[in-house]
Amino acid sequence: MRLRLPAERPTEPPTGYKIAHPVLSVDGTRAGFTGVSLGGALPYGVLAEASCVYGRRHRPPARLCDCGFHCVHDRAAADALRCTAEHRTALLLEVSVLGTYIRFERGFRYARQRVRTATAGPCACGATAALLADAGWGRPGWRALAPGCAGCARGRTSVTLAEFARLAGEGLRVRADGGVPAAAALGPAGAELGVPELVAEAALLQARLDWFQSQLARLGDRGTGSADKG
Ligand SMILES: [Zn+2]
Ligand SMILES: [Zn+2]
Repeated sequence: MRLRLPAERPTEPPTGYKIAHPVLSVDGTRAGFTGVSLGGALPYGVLAEASCVYGRRHRPPARLCDCGFHCVHDRAAADALRCTAEHRTALLLEVSVLGTYIRFERGFRYARQRVRTATAGPCACGATAALLADAGWGRPGWRALAPGCAGCARGRTSVTLAEFARLAGEGLRVRADGGVPAAAALGPAGAELGVPELVAEAALLQARLDWFQSQLARLGDRGTGSADKG
């Protein structure tokens, strides 16, 4: 007897959550995502169909394979994946699970998906992300991007969140969460300072100047010493 999984016939596509790195085509005309684990080498668009990553001739999600798109049921569980160093700059995606799917305790493995919303965390400096900038790595033909602010991304290839959404197409929404407004993230140099902060800055500068002068004096002594002997 062949065991069959119970069939589900949802009226609406199920919703799932996952993380992925945003990518921009090298000519800057297309935007998509690249996964963080299985199948991560293949960038995908907002509306995409999975193919077997092992090149087998079946349609994902094949029961005896582990191919297909993957997502989890719980937004917080997907978000937690962004804590690891290598996934800090990944975006949190909310997806519609389309086509055939296999339901597991924690998520789905499935044939097709539509990315509805992509959420970018803050820039490395702590500012709320305003754009997605060249992350310094990628896939052939695709540059990986990371959330950034205008100040930190200066000089690097970048697109605003709205531009990324437009290039990706299919009604994708891109938003930013976390972080502080860009001006505050710049710290004392960029923010309005009160008297206590200025006094603290002055004390710090004075301490550095004292250290600098003591180093100069030491070098001066040494220089004089050798001259005397010569
Ligand atoms: Zn397969
Ligand atoms: Zn920044």
